[in-house]
Amino acid sequence: MRDDDSSSSFDSRGVRIDWDALVSPRTAGRVSKLGTETAFAVSAEATAFAALGHHVYPFHIGDLNFATPPNIVEASLRALKDGKTGYCPNAGIPILKEAVANEVNASRGLDYRAENVAVQPGGKPVIGKFLLTLMNPGDEVLYPNPGFPIYESQIEFHGGVAVPYRFVESATGFEIDLEALERSITPRTRLLILNDLQNPLGAECSPQEFERLSEIVSQHDLWVLSDEAYFDVRYSGTSTSFASIADMARRTVILYTFSKRFAMTGWRLGAALGPRSVIDVIATLNVNDESCTNHFVQYGGVEALTGDQTEPRRIVSVLKERRDAALKILRATPGVRCYEPRGTFYLFPNVTEAMRIKGFEDVDDFRREVLRETGVSVCSRTHFGRPQVDEDQHYVRFAYSGIEVDQIVEGLERFRSYLDLSTAAS
Ligand code: PLP
Repeated sequence: MRDDDSSSSFDSRGVRIDWDALVSPRTAGRVSKLGTETAFAVSAEATAFAALGHHVYPFHIGDLNFATPPNIVEASLRALKDGKTGYCPNAGIPILKEAVANEVNASRGLDYRAENVAVQPGGKPVIGKFLLTLMNPGDEVLYPNPGFPIYESQIEFHGGVAVPYRFVESATGFEIDLEALERSITPRTRLLILNDLQNPLGAECSPQEFERLSEIVSQHDLWVLSDEAYFDVRYSGTSTSFASIADMARRTVILYTFSKRFAMTGWRLGAALGPRSVIDVIATLNVNDESCTNHFVQYGGVEALTGDQTEPRRIVSVLKERRDAALKILRATPGVRCYEPRGTFYLFPNVTEAMRIKGFEDVDDFRREVLRETGVSVCSRTHFGRPQVDEDQHYVRFAYSGIEVDQIVEGLERFRSYLDLSTAAS
């Protein structure tokens, strides 16, 4: 096995192994289609900057700095001690499947049974398994862009054609450009990926948008992946699942995850919910892939859904305080336009004017200078899917899931001063 320290690796004859010489150039063609979360490169830049002794305000991090609620940890530990360490059913332990179905039915007004649930090691695997189940090579898939970058990567990796749909800024936020979306549909279009309460925009569909989308979906006979990763991370109003729109449940797969609401990102626990015809195939993909999701972790999931909700509620209320603190300063920052999302833990301000003030044309050049000058580290629009050719507005993403209110205020005040001073000078 390769060691972390490859320079000290030797074979059984004691000869030093030259790893680079062993790298095979014959990787499969599809590998070249594989994307990644390029935001990790921003982390590397922030880490390098911090290593030089600078203070960094980590707004690029999409992970949560909350501990998993103790009752969930206890339940999993108990299961571990009780010997829940062997293989378990590939679609998940029955008690968890039932708990997930009950939870989703109660919060979304749906009628799933345990057999409509396939437990997964996180929400992310649902994306690839949905595509493997329903997409043939050459099929076209509509996906949000800007959006979670793994959609584009997985569609192309599995031989599909990734067709982006975009959002337009409205007075109150972002709306899907439904006319453009409809114009991009062809006879090869098979699937639509939706992420309501969206990463990175924080956008959500109005009832009218959902209605129109459901008409488009029926008319063109599409299947839908409804990525509901942030369904429960909301501060006002109520979330709606696309599956609960009339007649949509029978052509929708829900991506459910424990990651955000329960601060369980590293536990890797989620589920796919949908019609049996699709869920059975996804469960067979589980057999072929991970066999089953970590057995004792699933008992933590049961406790998360059925146990005390005090801590998950507190997490959301702390996130709301952070959103409010960040928004207040961003809205007072020259050249920045930021609307108020009612959920997620992202802000996606338009910084076109701020860039003009500072003389930047490239949003990543701007982002890097902001880091150098203020220590504020953010992702930009370019980390959320390939930018489309006709884009003329620029955006950065502030994630406030991993940074405390005092640091939010300190960092964003520095960002504001950086732009304030230039405005005063110009
Ligand atoms: N979907 C969206 C929109 C996300 O932002 C994320 C994570 O950031 C995921 C899915 C996957 O989350 P997980 O695999 O931790 O459940």
